[in-house]
Order: sequence, then structure tokens, then C-alpha cells
Amino acid sequence: MKLNEKVIITVAPTGAWPSKEDNPALPLTPEEIAADVCACRQAGASVAHLHMRDASGQGSMDKEIFKKTVGLIRERCDIVLNLTTSGDLKATDETRMAHLREIKPELASYDCGSMNWMHSGVFLNTPTFLEKLAQTMNENGIKPEIEIFDGGMVYNALHYQKMGLLKSPLHFQFVVGAAGGLSATVENLVFLKSLIPTDSTWSALGIGKGHLPIMYAALALGGHVRVGMEDNVVYSKGRLASSNAEFVERAARLTREAGKEAATPDEARLILGLGNSKKQ
Ligand code: ZN
Repeated sequence: MKLNEKVIITVAPTGAWPSKEDNPALPLTPEEIAADVCACRQAGASVAHLHMRDASGQGSMDKEIFKKTVGLIRERCDIVLNLTTSGDLKATDETRMAHLREIKPELASYDCGSMNWMHSGVFLNTPTFLEKLAQTMNENGIKPEIEIFDGGMVYNALHYQKMGLLKSPLHFQFVVGAAGGLSATVENLVFLKSLIPTDSTWSALGIGKGHLPIMYAALALGGHVRVGMEDNVVYSKGRLASSNAEFVERAARLTREAGKEAATPDEARLILGLGNSKKQ
């Protein structure tokens, strides 16, 4: 199959918010995350979007926890790593970037604007932070995955592209269904896709019950997909997911039914034009 018929399935196994009470299969420790991510690789995931937790289970940007987890994954499988820069709303700008300089992952999240987050706090991404973050990623050969929660964030990205801070072709992750951002509807996804440069790559996810409609729509529109317990802990009505791999297996199955195939990590590297792929 040609590269344009390959779909990158990203798994986001942990996130900053869900707990074992929400789903006992949620991986939290470096060991649990590494085992989970490599099982998802076997099931068809080519990218892992990672958040870390501290010993009490809270979201953490501690670079030592990132390093430990990345080391364990690297021993076991070749999945592309996408590290969050937004794993703790209280972290300083510097703490949000420190792990990138040391680990130099192939991808990292770039949340392209601020928003009220889940009716509970402010998800702050100031212009100063976004400029510094783009510079840090450029200096370390890390491709930004531009996370988009509403339409204005796309225009922010286009601004930083014009300034030369974000380099073409851009790669977007449309995150719909987070309270405070756009809701998880197919119409909103079509709208967001209409705003981005035509040479961009993009992926999408719906949080909560919007996850299936958004996955179907992303496959139909030529996008890539993200699944996992960061976004959704329920597999089907009334039934918790038994593992992140179960979500990946379904995404791979739907991808095949759509006449496409799940990309391998190396194919994902080619599709995204990843600069750090040879160094790892
Ligand atoms: Zn995340």
C-alpha cells in the first residue's frame, strides 16, 4: 500500500486526569506505561503521546519520570514518541520544556493557545511560552504536534508559521470534546480541517462519547487518528476498556474496513518527516 493509504494510530495511554478509579487498567507508572505502549505498538499504534504521573498519581512534568519511561520503552519497541508539554497546569514554562532538551523526542505537543479547561481552571499557553517552545523544539529537532481545541488556535499556528517559528509542513492534532473548546462533532472537525494549509498532516480525536464519530470522520476525511485512555476510558456503552490496546485494535480494524492500513512507526516517521528519527 502507498504511504497515503497508511493511517497513523496514536495511542494516548494515560493523560493527566483519569485515575485508576475511572478505569483500573489505566497505566500510571513508568513500567506500566512502557508495557502498555509496546502492547499498543503490537496492536497497530505507531505513535505514543505520553503524560507522566507522580507517586501519588497526579499529572507531573518531572523530567526524571519522563526519562525513566522513555528508557523503558526504547528497550522494548520502536514506537514514535510524542511527549506532552502540558502535563501539569501548575508547572512553570521552563519545567514544561526541560524534558524536551534532554530526551529530544521525535514529536512533542504544542498547544496553540489558552482556554478555560473543563470548567475548572485555565490552560495557559502565553505568546511568550509558545515562542520559546517553538524555538526549543526547533533547536532540538523536535516536530511540534500542534494541538487544536478551537478555531482560533489554528490562526495562532498560522501566525507562528508566518513568523518562521513553526515550519511547514505543519502537523495538527484536532482535540474536540474538551469542555471549554469545540464539541466533538463531525461538523466541527470538517470546519477545523478547512482552516489548515493543504500540505499539512493532521489527526483527530473526540473526547468521551464523541470518540467514535470523530474516528470515522477522520478516516473518511483522510486524517490520522488518536485513541486511548487520556481521551476516553469507556470502550462501549456501559463497558470500560480492558486496555489501551483494545482501543488500538478497534482503530486498526476500522482503518482496514476503510480500505487503508495502520502505518508502522517507520512509515509514520516518513509521513511526518521526523528529523530525530535517525538519532534514536
Ligand atoms: Zn495529552
